[in-house]
Amino acid sequence: MIDGCGREIDHLRLSLTDHCNLACRYCVPGRGHHLYHMIDPNFALRLVEWLTRKHGIRHVRLTGGEPLLHPHIVQLVACLSKLRPLHELTLTTNGQALAAKAAALHAAGLDRINVSLDTLDPHRFEWITRGGQLAPTLGGIETAIHEGLTPLKINVVVQRGVNDGGICELAEWGLRRGCIVRFLEVMPIGPFQHVVDQHLVPAAEIVQRLAERFDLRSIPAPPGQPAVDFAVTGDGVRGVIGVIAPTTQPFCGRCRRLRVTSRGYVIPCVHDRNTANLNTAWDGVELDEPRADEILEAVIGRKAPVGPMNQAVSLIRIGG
Ligand code: SAM
Repeated sequence: MIDGCGREIDHLRLSLTDHCNLACRYCVPGRGHHLYHMIDPNFALRLVEWLTRKHGIRHVRLTGGEPLLHPHIVQLVACLSKLRPLHELTLTTNGQALAAKAAALHAAGLDRINVSLDTLDPHRFEWITRGGQLAPTLGGIETAIHEGLTPLKINVVVQRGVNDGGICELAEWGLRRGCIVRFLEVMPIGPFQHVVDQHLVPAAEIVQRLAERFDLRSIPAPPGQPAVDFAVTGDGVRGVIGVIAPTTQPFCGRCRRLRVTSRGYVIPCVHDRNTANLNTAWDGVELDEPRADEILEAVIGRKAPVGPMNQAVSLIRIGG
């Protein structure tokens, strides 16, 4: 699939639900912001089958909300992992329910997992997530590694005055467990411009702080990966750390992504309000392929060359 700017689109982020068991302050507008929509697993399977067979999607990341809250997550992974020619099936989770599901997910054919973890301090974790407990996420990471969902990536959203003091400690914790630790700038998505204004730590500063503690050597990241990766040694650890700079150095020119929400909307750019509704091609049982092709081609043709930064809704609704 080639968009209007000549970019090849082969990565899909599929949101399984807009529900989450945490309420991170840069992702969920408020405590009482309850969303409970779960994707129809038949729609999800048919959609990915169509996109891989006909439109060149090769990498699928299941996300949300919190994808592990979907009641059919393991069966869905089992079906999706059999689709050919899919190259990689991964999932992004907050890890709260991971310990109980890691073995089944791996057996069902999930290739890898990304876990969001912003701090190792239990009180700070509880504050950032509005009530979450740190221990289940740490336990989930350990279990997922034990079950072979590796290399496991840890995603850290860095915020000044919130968790920026702990980035080296988090890097070391992840590297000791063989994880790839990736530090992300906070993004002005939906109602969160104020979080960026108050708490953004530019990627250049993140790298500088890491370089004070570790030896960093820049290494090429695989195509489709927005991170700048570094081989790391120092303080008795070695491995890979990545830094992702969507806010200060947007990587739109290298974007290969398409998103579909749990409610069936195609979102070609996370920073743009341009969407299309695939429900008009789904009657609850069958996908009307000619109609779906038309919808997809029109919306991909309008994928912005550079994100206009006008997104109205937060990542919990779009799928992170
Ligand atoms: N619940 C899963 C999780 O926690 O990974 C998947 C969904 S979550 C929306 C996906 C990722 O989006 C998380 O790593 C989260 O930190 C990130 N995220 C959400 N809002 C963000 C923002 N405003 N800026 C940067 N990252 C954000």
